[in-house]
Amino acid sequence: MKNKILNRLKNMIFGSSALLICLSLFSFKSEHSIKKDTVVNSFKLRTIIIDPGHGIKPEGAPPGHYSRGASGSFSSERNVTLAIALKLQKALEKDVAGVKAVLTRTTDDDVSWERRAEIANQNKGNLFISIHCNSLSDRIVRERIGTRKRKPVYRTVRVPDRSGKGALMLIYGLHRSKEEENAIKNNQVEEDSDLNGDALDPNDPMVIILTNEYKRKFRKQSVNIANFINDEFVQTDGRRSEGLREQGIFVLCHSAMPSVLVETGYINNPDDEEYLNSENGQNEIVNSIVRAVSNYKNQLEQVATN
Ligand SMILES: [Zn+2]
Repeated sequence: MKNKILNRLKNMIFGSSALLICLSLFSFKSEHSIKKDTVVNSFKLRTIIIDPGHGIKPEGAPPGHYSRGASGSFSSERNVTLAIALKLQKALEKDVAGVKAVLTRTTDDDVSWERRAEIANQNKGNLFISIHCNSLSDRIVRERIGTRKRKPVYRTVRVPDRSGKGALMLIYGLHRSKEEENAIKNNQVEEDSDLNGDALDPNDPMVIILTNEYKRKFRKQSVNIANFINDEFVQTDGRRSEGLREQGIFVLCHSAMPSVLVETGYINNPDDEEYLNSENGQNEIVNSIVRAVSNYKNQLEQVATN
């Protein structure tokens, strides 16, 4: 079993440097004598987990974290995220060859954060895309309401803040990475090692190296997919975006795969709310994510030829 892990690790870490050595050897030969060598990357992006944020906690729901999400003036985040996720599932399976899209929630009923991460890992997702809408909290302002004994009297009032506008990509923050390590250890590393349910020794140096290698790889890929989606929103759809931000988010840290949380727009901003609920807005968001996933897939599966 150890040998199997060791081989896997060697392939992962030394695979790319072997290609470089191979390239530099060929460069000594004349152009005409170069043997055509194709290095095919065996990774395939097969399963994408789409996670529509929030929902209504059903009666008798199992214990866990649930959250109803934000509201706008006429719509709710949970309805917008489900509508976008259902469209995205259909579009990904139609437009990206060989890809299956699995939803963590398909009805109004909320699914706990714990269960969402479990669905992602059980379905052996290669990529996790969580769909949300942003919202700004009310501002607390002090307002002068009069004078008493020649002194001004104030009261505090809550004022809705509708100034937030545009998209935002969240990737997991490093402070949650212990949980991510455990998820990787329990799902990815055990799977590779073919242990058939036997627990791995968490202190085994080989397990530690493998886990760290996955962590580094997943983080890089999370940044890549977030950038691809952000670029499509900004460059193709001409939308405003706050770019990428790191945050400790349960579902992202507990999913042993590259993951991004897409804040599709501010539901408490009148323009964004209109856009998020419109057929055109939802289609633009979906098409942008599909193009981003295609670019990401090509980048991961690209065939190197020399
Ligand atoms: Zn949300």
